[in-house]
Amino acid sequence: MDANELTKVNAMPASASRQGFVQFDVVAYGIVIAAIILFVGIGGTVLPQLLRAVSGEGAGPDRSLTSALLLNIALVIFSWRRQRILSVEITERRKAEAQAWILAETDPLTGCFNRRSIGDATDRLVSTACARGEEVAFLMFDLDNFKRVNDVNGHKAGDEILREIAARVTRVMPAGSLIARLGGDEFALVIPFDPAHAQRIEELAETLIRMAALPVEVGGASIQTTISIGITRSSNNTGSEPAQTLLHMADIAMFHAKKQGRNRYYWFEDSMEAELRFRAELEAGIRRGVPLGEFVPHYEQQIEIKTGKLVGFEMLARWESPTAGTIGPDIFIPIAEEIGLISELSESVIAQALKDAREWDPELTLSVNISPVQLRDPWFAQKLLKLLVEANFPSSRLDVEITESCLHENLGEVRSLIASLKNQGISVSLDDFGMGYNSLAQLRTLPFDRIKIDRSFVSGLSGTGDSVMIIQAISTLADGLGLPITAEGIDSESIQSQLKDLGTFKGQGYLYGRPENAQLTRERLSQLGLLLGGPEVAEPEKTSAETVAPLDANRRSA
Ligand code: C2E
Ligand code: MG
Ligand code: MG
Repeated sequence: MDANELTKVNAMPASASRQGFVQFDVVAYGIVIAAIILFVGIGGTVLPQLLRAVSGEGAGPDRSLTSALLLNIALVIFSWRRQRILSVEITERRKAEAQAWILAETDPLTGCFNRRSIGDATDRLVSTACARGEEVAFLMFDLDNFKRVNDVNGHKAGDEILREIAARVTRVMPAGSLIARLGGDEFALVIPFDPAHAQRIEELAETLIRMAALPVEVGGASIQTTISIGITRSSNNTGSEPAQTLLHMADIAMFHAKKQGRNRYYWFEDSMEAELRFRAELEAGIRRGVPLGEFVPHYEQQIEIKTGKLVGFEMLARWESPTAGTIGPDIFIPIAEEIGLISELSESVIAQALKDAREWDPELTLSVNISPVQLRDPWFAQKLLKLLVEANFPSSRLDVEITESCLHENLGEVRSLIASLKNQGISVSLDDFGMGYNSLAQLRTLPFDRIKIDRSFVSGLSGTGDSVMIIQAISTLADGLGLPITAEGIDSESIQSQLKDLGTFKGQGYLYGRPENAQLTRERLSQLGLLLGGPEVAEPEKTSAETVAPLDANRRSA
C-alpha cells in the first residue's frame, strides 16, 4: 500500500451504519457473556450436587436447576454460533461499505480522490497542518494539449497516459499528501510543508514537470506530453472554505502558466486574478458585441511602391467597444478563437467590408485575414462565396491572407482550402512570410498568389541588420516561383526608397496611412476620384491627418 492509499484509508469516514454494526456486535457479545456467567453460576450449584450424587452422597441435582443448566448450555452454543455468523456478516458488510466508499470518493481510472471528496479531505489536512505549525500547498496541473493527444492516439491511449502520469506523481509525493483527479486531465495535489522550506514545493513542481515529460509507451507507440502547474499555499487563503479558495487560486495560476507557454509552473499572484477578470469581461463583451455589430472593418492602403499608386486595401478588424473604446485585433482575435466566436465575427466584418468595397473603384482589391480556426472549417470556401454573392462583389477582387504560422499543423487543410478559393477566382496570399521555420519548403507545394514579407524584416531596413540581404533573398526566391511580393510595415521614406531599389513590390505601412474606418476610407477615395458615384465633399484634414505619402498616382483628371 503506497502513501496515497494510506492517506485515503485514513481519511475514510466512520459512517452511521458502521457504528450500528459495532453496537450490534456489543449486544451479541453481551448475550454470550451473560450466558456464560449464568452457566458458571448454575453450573457451580448443579455440578457439585451431581458429583455428590455420583459418589452416592446426595439425592442428585435439583431438577429445575438441571433444566436451567441445559437451557443455559443451549443458549451459550446458540449465541456463540449466532455471534460467529454475525461477525462474518459484519465483515462482509464492512467490505461492501468500503467498496462503496471507494467508488463514491475515488476516481476509478487512477485511484485518486475525485473532485467531490478532495474538498473535505483538504479542509481536514489544512486544519491538522495548521495545528502542527505547517502550511499546505495546493498544486493544480493538467496535461498540455491533451485533447490533441486523445484525437490523434484515441481515448484508450489517453486513459493510459492519465493513469501513468497519476502513478508517476504519486510516487514522488511526500507522505501525508493527497492527490485528486478533478476531471478530464486535471489533477490537484495537497501537500503539507514546513513554511521555512517553501522551496521544496518548487523542487517538487520541477520534478513533476520533468517526470511528466518522459515518454509513455502505449500500444507500441511512445507518446510525450507536458504539464502546466498552478500553485498556491494555505497562508494565501482568506476564505472560510480552504479547499474551494485554494482550488480557485491554483486554477488561476495554472491558467497563467498555460498562457506563458505551458510546461512550467507559476505561484498564484493577486494580479493574475485581475487579469482573469479583465479577460472574462472581454469575453462577455465580445459575446455581446458581435451580434450588435460592434466589430467593424478598418482599411489599410496597399500601394504600388514604384509608382505610389493605390491598388487596394487590407481589411483589419477593430472592436468599437462602447465601454473601452477602439480595441485592436491582437487582443480580441485570440479570445474570439478560444470561445468559438471567430467565424461569426470574421464573417460579419468581411460582409461589411464587401459592402463597403462595392462602392470603390473596381480596380481596387480587398484583402481579408482569416484565422487558423476558419482554415479548419470545411465549409469556409462556401461561406465566403455566399458572402460574395450576397454583396454582389467579384471574387477576382478579393484576396485572402493566410498567416504563415498556420501552415505547420494544417498543411492538408490549407492545400484544399487554397484550391477551393482559387477555383472560385479568389486569390490567396501568404501573410507574415519569414516568421515560420519551414515555409520555404511549403512555398513550393502550396499555390499561393503572393507573399507578404513580415513587418520585422521590412522595419529592419532602417537599421544596420541583415534585412537588405534577407529581402533580396526572398525577392529572388519569389521571382523564381513567379510570386509577387507585398512588403508590410513601411513606416519611413528611407525604407520606401530602399525597397524601390530592391525590386517591384507592393507596400503597406504607416508611411501611407494608418488603417481607417469605412467613412474615412470613402472620403480618401472620393478625393482621389476612386469612389463609384462621383467624388464626395470631404474634410481634407480629417482624411489626411496621418497620411504622409502623396497619392497623386491615383488622381484622375476630372
Ligand atoms: P497583419 O495581417 O499582418 O496586419 C498588419 C498589421 O500591422 C496591422 O495591425 C497593421 O495595423 C500593422 N501595421 C501596418 N503598417 C504598420 C507599420 O508601418 N508599423 C507598424 N508598427 N505596424 C503596422 P493590426 O490591425 O493590429 O492587426 C494585427 C493582426 O491581426 C493582423 O496582422 C492580422 O493577422 C490580424 N487581423 C486583423 N484583422 C483580422 C480579422 O478580421 N481576422 C483575423 N483572423 N485576423 C485579423
Ligand atoms: Mg494580413
Ligand atoms: Mg502581416
